[in-house]
Amino acid sequence: MPQSRIVIAGGGFAGLYTALELEKLFKRDDRVSITLLNHENFFLFTPMLPETGAGSIGTRHIVSPLRKLLRRTRFAEVEIERIDLNSRVVFARHSLTASAREFPYDHLVLTLGGVTNYFGIEGAAEHSLPFKTLGDAIFVRNHTIDKLEEAAVEPERASELLTFAIVGGGLTGVEISGALNDFVREAARFYPEIKRDQIRLMLVEAGPRLMPEMKEELAAFAERVLIARGVDVRTNTAVTKVEATAFELSTGERISTGTLIWAAGVAPNPLIASLEVPKERGRIRVNEFLEAEGAPGVWAAGDSAFILDAETGKPYPPTAQHAIREGKRLARNIAAGFGAGARRPFTYRAIGQMAIVGERTGVADVMGFQFSGFVAWFLWRTYYLMRVPLLEKRLRVMMDWTLDLFFKRDIVQLAVSRERRLVSGSRRST
Ligand SMILES: Cc1cc2nc3c(=O)[nH]c(=O)nc-3n(C[C@H](O)[C@H](O)[C@H](O)COP(=O)(O)OP(=O)(O)OC[C@H]3O[C@@H](n4cnc5c(N)ncnc54)[C@H](O)[C@@H]3O)c2cc1C
Repeated sequence: MPQSRIVIAGGGFAGLYTALELEKLFKRDDRVSITLLNHENFFLFTPMLPETGAGSIGTRHIVSPLRKLLRRTRFAEVEIERIDLNSRVVFARHSLTASAREFPYDHLVLTLGGVTNYFGIEGAAEHSLPFKTLGDAIFVRNHTIDKLEEAAVEPERASELLTFAIVGGGLTGVEISGALNDFVREAARFYPEIKRDQIRLMLVEAGPRLMPEMKEELAAFAERVLIARGVDVRTNTAVTKVEATAFELSTGERISTGTLIWAAGVAPNPLIASLEVPKERGRIRVNEFLEAEGAPGVWAAGDSAFILDAETGKPYPPTAQHAIREGKRLARNIAAGFGAGARRPFTYRAIGQMAIVGERTGVADVMGFQFSGFVAWFLWRTYYLMRVPLLEKRLRVMMDWTLDLFFKRDIVQLAVSRERRLVSGSRRST
């Protein structure tokens, strides 16, 4: 009997956990082949990305090689360019200069995640810094150090260079603000040319309060902590225009800055838009078994899927917690088609929400109990540390956290460009 081909498009939380669960379910069963396609050859543990951007966790410690995590899944590092649902083929290539490859499938799992949502705001996509990938975090760290160095030699531009703004006051924006604020203020100690009161961190949120995902008291606590640590928090304020060295607010204010980090939301992956399957808010609408409506053999989970929670009538939120469970359920439902177990609807009640609000402070709402301050921070660290996939990486993160208690942050700026400095007319890029 020919093997049934399962192709997973996207190796983030949903894709990886689908593959791992399929490996368990089809351990000694060669009726299926499993192929995972992803941009990068690693799995990125996004909850620790803000700490990596702020330099308290090593760059390589929050990523795990997919080839090390997977046993019987075939992995290909490719960019998926097109999916033909009629002929059941995924078209992808390793790089722009490489030839296009075809990955035919019997079951297609769409776990492509999302992309940064700029809400069509003028200049936002061109001039702000996204914060979604490992590359983004490396760039933000280097860029931040570069602004400190630049301010040290160009004091007349200090107000622009030392203003760091974050757009979006959801969980991610709050975590980035807390981490970056700590980093910039700590790093500034090594710059005698910079006065403390010249540093400005701003968090801009269009809604009435921070972290709408969290209980109001916890969000208010986080806001108080950020303000006490020097962050200028603006709620009920929208960014209306972004330029290379400034942005405008709905209040009419114009803020000069060379650093605007965009953490305002997630839009569906553009590849999804090209697929002729029912969608809701740009995400693939799946039934309770996570199969795309009207497209048997096409499955979706994670940030690119629209999954209705039958109990609340609302879609499940786009979080890693959900993506992991969705991936596992999806795998079991595929296996059910091969006689292994029964198809079951996806249901999940999140155990809670947690966020770090900077050094040794956090907020947590776990199983109805609310925590804030050090306890919440400690809970966050313990919970997420245990979820880093490889023991080796877990130990490295632990070591980073331990060393961080004793030493000041590293301010080495790592150039990641091959551009060479010329004696005259040199250009720098980070
Ligand atoms: C900074 C940050 C912090 C976060 N913190 C938390 C947190 O603390 N807790 C929490 O629960 N959630 C958190 N999230 C949200 C969480 O990361 C997402 O909900 C989760 O990653 C969604 O999983 P996914 O598998 O759908 O997508 P992803 O994890 O984004 O995976 C999608 C994968 O598809 C790949 N891909 C996309 N397009 C292509 C293509 N054309 N070709 C090949 N590969 C492609 C991508 O490279 C990626 O590997 C955070 C997100 C960010 C950005």
